[in-house]
Amino acid sequence: MRILVVEDEPVLALRLQQTLEAAGFAVDVAYDGEEGWFLGDTETYDAAVLDLGLPKIDGVTVLRRWREAGRTLPVLILTARSRWTEKMAGFQAGADDYLTKPFEMDEVVYRLRALIRRAAGHAQPELVCGPLRLDTLAGRVTQDGVPLKLTAQEFRILSYLMHHAGKVVSRTELLDHVYDRHFDSDSNVLEVLIGRIRRKISGNLIHTVRGQGYRLAEASGP
Ligand code: CA
Repeated sequence: MRILVVEDEPVLALRLQQTLEAAGFAVDVAYDGEEGWFLGDTETYDAAVLDLGLPKIDGVTVLRRWREAGRTLPVLILTARSRWTEKMAGFQAGADDYLTKPFEMDEVVYRLRALIRRAAGHAQPELVCGPLRLDTLAGRVTQDGVPLKLTAQEFRILSYLMHHAGKVVSRTELLDHVYDRHFDSDSNVLEVLIGRIRRKISGNLIHTVRGQGYRLAEASGP
């Protein structure tokens, strides 16, 4: 899962980036509204953290432009003050959730995981695909109750496939959602990572759909 952070305060931007990366997300950071708008408009993200008070273009305008252009990604806005009018303007522009500064870093992680899960159409915090269970809040995958030891990249891939179980996910889509924008997508690293995940989970759960991409076997049972 890949997150865009738009925040002009360098210290806070860095803390958000480090916290989200430690939580297993790929993260791009923009430090003003213009760069933030551009990245959100041209790159693929699972969610955005958007400060409202930004240089060049303010956060509400950035969000309104994304929505007018049909960008549906979940957006968590950050407001410096607890003023209701500011939050309301954010919601009217298309925000999904907000946090008032200062906030706990862990709360950003939990809110983003819930927003991403909801956006993929899942109400329950636990996603089940056969023997695999993804605790979306804790960011953990177990197989038959045993925690899987996954690298951050492997976790992002498996988590994305589990959010979209039963659907064919193309290589491009997977690469777009699991790497930041500095990644060289010509590399065959995706096949290598898929191979590693397959060796870590028993059973043939990740299917290669020739010429199309990958599909994780859909949830079975009740
Ligand atoms: Ca700001």
